[in-house]
Amino acid sequence: MNVIIFGPPGAGKGTQALNIVKKFKLYQISTGDLLRNEVKNQTIIGKDIENIISKGDFATDEIVNELIKNAIFDPQNKNKLIFDGYPRSLSQAKNLDSLLKESNQKIDFIFFLNVNKKTIIDRIEKRKALEKRTDDNLTTILKRYDTYMETTKPVLDFYSKKSNFHEIDGDDKIEEISSKIEQILSV
Ligand code: AMP
Repeated sequence: MNVIIFGPPGAGKGTQALNIVKKFKLYQISTGDLLRNEVKNQTIIGKDIENIISKGDFATDEIVNELIKNAIFDPQNKNKLIFDGYPRSLSQAKNLDSLLKESNQKIDFIFFLNVNKKTIIDRIEKRKALEKRTDDNLTTILKRYDTYMETTKPVLDFYSKKSNFHEIDGDDKIEEISSKIEQILSV
């Protein structure tokens, strides 16, 4: 099965994706992690990406779609994908759709972690202390939230009409969210 974990920054997408990876033996495709790897490995595009991420802007579709394409067409990932942080815009959602069709795959489950703004700020403040991400400061968090509302939320409106869409209260405790997701995936 292929799964999308959808939600604003700080919703807990990565945490829940990791849990699904462990329980259901899937592969997590986090575009944020893939981009941070480019920075860490000091690739040609790494420097640009570093600036983009720390300002809270989006990496270009060209870069992100290429990273996603490689992941989707990797034979070991086929029908075992969890998308975390992708798609983040309608154009990315359309790209995902056509790449999946091209590779004879589909999305089986879409989870939306619905979290309020206050929880997001609290969670990202906590993550800052642990992970020391350059984009986890208050100004950037607010910018990322606004971008989410403007550019990413239309994707939610698009997915919410689908029959495999599941909205989960992302303000709940991590374990409760995991257990709700596991129940749905186990049916
Ligand atoms: P994340 O780890 O998902 O919070 O992503 C961290 C940052 O990476 C985002 O704020 C963006 O700058 C960039 N990023 C991650 N995923 C995408 C995407 N699908 N499209 C564009 N930029 C992305």
